[in-house]
Amino acid sequence: MLHSNGFAPLHNEKPADTPKQVLVIEDNLPSLKLIGAIITAQGYKVLEATTGLLGLELARRHHPALIVMDIRLPDISGLEVTRLLKADVDTADIAVICTSAHAAAGDGTTQEAGCDAFMPKPIMVSDFIRVLRSLVTRGATASLPVAR
Ligand code: MN
Repeated sequence: MLHSNGFAPLHNEKPADTPKQVLVIEDNLPSLKLIGAIITAQGYKVLEATTGLLGLELARRHHPALIVMDIRLPDISGLEVTRLLKADVDTADIAVICTSAHAAAGDGTTQEAGCDAFMPKPIMVSDFIRVLRSLVTRGATASLPVAR
């Protein structure tokens, strides 16, 4: 709708919200790209790391809203990265979704490490999107039950 002066009204135009950042720590490149594409399609900005230590550094530097954390990484494990982040007041509020192809990883050890949710691989896309959106919105204040 145009004003009588011919210009479009400006009062509804607000600067777009800065997209929330999601860090994906995953050493398997096809998985990294797939997870990244799903997250991008939800309107979030993706940061990528292929090792635990790089992931830790990016988490501390950028403070993403959420981390999708592979457990088996080439250097330190995703659970160790999670423990370090949750033990630090500056990063404890970052929500963490741990992922693993090993169903046994979904036992109590992921919760003990501080993971907010666990997603078995292969990731079910609809479940992943639901947990992703929920945790980005709500943050790391409570744990979600294990997604099936
Ligand atoms: Mn891995």
